[in-house]
Amino acid sequence: MTSAPPSAPPDATFESLGLKPQLVEALTSLGYEEPTPIQHASLPPLLAGKDLLGIAATGTGKTAAFALPLLHHLTPGKARPHTTSALVLVPTRELAMQVSEAIHRYGQKLGATVLPLYGGQVIGQQLRVLKRGVDVVVATPGRALDHLRRGTLQLDHVQTVVLDEADEMLDMGFADDLEAILSGTPEDRQTALFSATLPPRIASIAERHLRQPVRVRIAKEKVEPGELPRIQQTAFVVPRAFKIAALGRLLDVESPTAAIIFCRTRTEVDDLTVSLNGRGWRAHALHGGMTQEQRDRVIKQLKSHGTDLLVATDVAARGLDIPRLSHVVNFDVPNAPEAYVHRIGRTGRAGREGVAITLVEPREHRLLRNIEKVTGQRIQVATVPTVADLRAKRQELLRATLREVLVAGGQDSFRSLVEDLAGEFEPLDIAAAAVKLLQDAQDEGRAKEEEEIPAVAPLQERKDRPGRPTGPGGRPSGRPERGSGPRRPQQGSWDTTRLWIGAGRQAGIRPADLVGAIAGEAGLDSSRIGAIQITDAFSLVEVPEPDANRVIAALKAATIRGRKVLIRKDRT
Ligand code: AMP
Repeated sequence: MTSAPPSAPPDATFESLGLKPQLVEALTSLGYEEPTPIQHASLPPLLAGKDLLGIAATGTGKTAAFALPLLHHLTPGKARPHTTSALVLVPTRELAMQVSEAIHRYGQKLGATVLPLYGGQVIGQQLRVLKRGVDVVVATPGRALDHLRRGTLQLDHVQTVVLDEADEMLDMGFADDLEAILSGTPEDRQTALFSATLPPRIASIAERHLRQPVRVRIAKEKVEPGELPRIQQTAFVVPRAFKIAALGRLLDVESPTAAIIFCRTRTEVDDLTVSLNGRGWRAHALHGGMTQEQRDRVIKQLKSHGTDLLVATDVAARGLDIPRLSHVVNFDVPNAPEAYVHRIGRTGRAGREGVAITLVEPREHRLLRNIEKVTGQRIQVATVPTVADLRAKRQELLRATLREVLVAGGQDSFRSLVEDLAGEFEPLDIAAAAVKLLQDAQDEGRAKEEEEIPAVAPLQERKDRPGRPTGPGGRPSGRPERGSGPRRPQQGSWDTTRLWIGAGRQAGIRPADLVGAIAGEAGLDSSRIGAIQITDAFSLVEVPEPDANRVIAALKAATIRGRKVLIRKDRT
């Protein structure tokens, strides 16, 4: 079914792969230094017009892997009214937004127009843009189908179709919608299918809808035991908005001798360096956009100073040898396990123990599991130290410092000063004031890290899959909608509560309507929504227990498919 990919040389750059100069420019301005492995493998066949079956998870750079060739083949502005040249189908509204933003960023210099289409969005704006014609549509299957049926979106001129996170789309019950949409596109289109896993259902879709696809799966070479030095590896699950605060907290608690903090792009390196310096750290940037002289200066400084932080991209840090590195921090999970191995191998040299810290965004858990498979080592998932932990750690350091001074002696010249004050104040209060002065001096210039960072549940793929749905009375209640059943949450394991919603198949309810309403009205990230089951008369949805009441309140005030619905906790 599949054919061998046209191969790219190992040191291929975006430019040498033949991408249009406007795309290369866009990538340079975004700070991308080199293709990730999935891009390296997918770009040549997709640029050559072949169909592709890519097995890749979020975080590997798969969006650019399909977006760049799609944009490369476009003639922007060509789309006629109600038509599009490229259609990307994604499972959720968040992904529709993310992917269309990414395509917009990559295609800006080409002048490509992109439109996200998802449920819950005001339709007027969508209709206006569709009427003019748009180069790329990024849609959830349900919403795409709505527009196809209304005739507001026509697919006869589509050149490229991408199915992104295809396994998720099937889990969400979109199999029939996908078939209907694909059957409305031209036979000679180019099709790319990306999926994190390759269950038989995906293989069968690929078999039917892809023409001799090139199959791309990044071969993971297992690292030999002993190849990795002794390194304590810990990951912290942190929402994106709290990553810098979390990093500051971890640096405070860990007090590294010297550390490299890795980011994915030049832009991230520059931004993070500025943030860290603004928070009182002394951080230096190192990336491929700097001259050799600038880089040499940074490395010299790092080698000669006491405590320093180097913020770097993978490319810039390649071949760098800094013997006293105590910590490697992955501000972003690297796009491939191999990069993780290279990064953390920079600490723990010469028999010394090193520490590797990785900040993981909730959606990226699969990358972490892939890394564990390659290294054969476990990465412990921990929660970011709280403000109380930080205070305790500071006190512990102060206590140790004071103890050293007391043991070493030599403070006689200060005794008379204390004796003077002792006439007026209690000796204990005088000592406490001196300690406070010391603490204030140590904190000078440091941002007060008093912000609490939300703890995200430790990552763990859920294995339990509920059986037949039961109605409010506990009786089995009809066949669930085909394909609508268990939906894997992408993030974490948590206590879940099942909600009963008084509308089902007869009311035209589909999984996407429930996900759209819960994510849109209650603001619950769709990755936190669990199994969805739809029967003729009602639906059941699993949500995290702590969010259940909020979701109930939000949905009581909202409408689903244009109607008010009853909603409560399921009593079974
Ligand atoms: P994705 O797997 O598509 O969700 O991408 C994960 C992240 O990697 C996104 O933040 C991208 O901006 C970033 N990314 C994608 N390609 C590259 C690249 N070649 N170099 C650096 N970062 C990249």
